[in-house]
Amino acid sequence: MAGAGHAVFTTSMNAALLQRTLIRTIRLYPLIAALLLGAAYLLGGFSDRVDPLVPKEDVVLALTIFLGVIPLLATVLFLLISALHDRESISRSKLQSRFAYTDAFLLPNEKMQGYKLSYISGRIPSFTGLTGDLYSSDDVATCSLYPLHVPPVIDCECGFYAFKDLKDALFELSINPGAFLIDVDLFGVGFEYARGYKAESQVVNSLKLPKRCMRCKALPIKHFVATYKMGLNSHFYWKWEVRCGICSATFKPEDTLGVHEMGALLKTAIK
Ligand SMILES: [Zn+2]
Ligand SMILES: [Zn+2]
Repeated sequence: MAGAGHAVFTTSMNAALLQRTLIRTIRLYPLIAALLLGAAYLLGGFSDRVDPLVPKEDVVLALTIFLGVIPLLATVLFLLISALHDRESISRSKLQSRFAYTDAFLLPNEKMQGYKLSYISGRIPSFTGLTGDLYSSDDVATCSLYPLHVPPVIDCECGFYAFKDLKDALFELSINPGAFLIDVDLFGVGFEYARGYKAESQVVNSLKLPKRCMRCKALPIKHFVATYKMGLNSHFYWKWEVRCGICSATFKPEDTLGVHEMGALLKTAIK
């Protein structure tokens, strides 16, 4: 049983890895397109000269391939990866239901260490999941959909989630500006899912600060500042981020917090 679980986890890591690599490569696309256009222009590909260094037809052909074929190829790759994902989740849930219902007392009950993202929100700062749920540094999950659930419930979204692989969390961080990376231990009843764990209770070990200001992305950070943001359904909330001295110059003292003060309020080590 343990062997089968391990095999499923390994293939899902591959799908996750493929997806990350593909998205990273796609980010280079506009840059390469601009370089290609620049090179074609410099080599005379757009001029009406009789003997340009690069014949006009070649430029048109290269651009057609670049603008037409590559996006198509990327789309096909995305579809293939998502099909792979689906296949893996089906085999995983088959494995889990067998696991969960035939031997409920043998569910993993050990500590599960992982990484995840959290926002910091609220006038009194609190960890805030990407779905908007608030939690403290040492908390037990509750189910907002079914009050009778004691999380985690296998076919419900309740429970604390964490990535097993730091790389997965770092990638999520790169597409969720404004979020912080936290290191957590999960306890109690837990399940292994696609890329990590889902469990009953969670302790936040530490929060990792970005090196640079979350606004200008250039200068070193100075302190936390709170901004008033509009979220879903025109609901306003306070959101904390770290900024440099310049990007936080207009903030009132009551809307700023030092790193140590933030650590004390969140009851978590900030690194
Ligand atoms: Zn639930
Ligand atoms: Zn800045």
